[in-house]
Amino acid sequence: MNFIEKYFWIFSTFLVPFLYLVVATAFYFVLYVWKNKQFNKSKTQAAQVEVSQINRELIYGIGSLIIFAAMGFTVFLLYHYGYSRVYMNSWQYGIVYFFLSVVLMILFHDMYFYWTHRLLHLPGWYQRIHSVHHLSSNPSPFTSLAFHPVEAIIQAAVLPLMIVIIPAHPFAIFVFLIYMVYKNVRGHAGYEFTNTALRQNKLNQLHSYAIHHNQHHLYGSHNYGLYFTIWDRLMKTFRKEEGL
Ligand SMILES: [Zn+2]
Ligand SMILES: [Zn+2]
Repeated sequence: MNFIEKYFWIFSTFLVPFLYLVVATAFYFVLYVWKNKQFNKSKTQAAQVEVSQINRELIYGIGSLIIFAAMGFTVFLLYHYGYSRVYMNSWQYGIVYFFLSVVLMILFHDMYFYWTHRLLHLPGWYQRIHSVHHLSSNPSPFTSLAFHPVEAIIQAAVLPLMIVIIPAHPFAIFVFLIYMVYKNVRGHAGYEFTNTALRQNKLNQLHSYAIHHNQHHLYGSHNYGLYFTIWDRLMKTFRKEEGL
């Protein structure tokens, strides 16, 4: 049993909650406390985020972190009992597949997120579950964790689902999870740092930026994607960016 195998249960249970705590707190500290005034021109909405909103997001966030840890332990159990396609020998599928698996996980999650997000906007689902996330119409880094427990379960379920479908090495999963957490926190940060020309060049147009997700929170519709605008463009739910 190698080092990764031995500690895989710790990695799968605690990595996602740990990354969210570190990344969301770092974004909040830099943008809302330390350099609060410096980046004002990059804010996606002029209004300041209320303290009561941050408190509410933190309370829901604690519940989400516990659910993410439980779902992470489920990932370990699936691996332990032989139901997953996680592999421990880095060279089993070659170096090209190693990088390809990260791309596959991102594309899979983008599809999963888009369609579960659309489902959560259906009447009934929205009022009972997803409205908790939309209480924050002016998002902050902690909005990335502010979910009704049922939504936290739906969103975290992508990880066990993914590892029974896509063969992946723990280090590839690690790279994917860092990008996942960064993209979610960045999308809710309340600031857009990529300039308009860069956002709108041919290739970057397919990326979903903070400004797109900000519009989703502001209007409660359109721009349902997490990583890319591909599904929004295909399904005609894309809304062009405004402001900034
Ligand atoms: Zn939504
Ligand atoms: Zn959101």
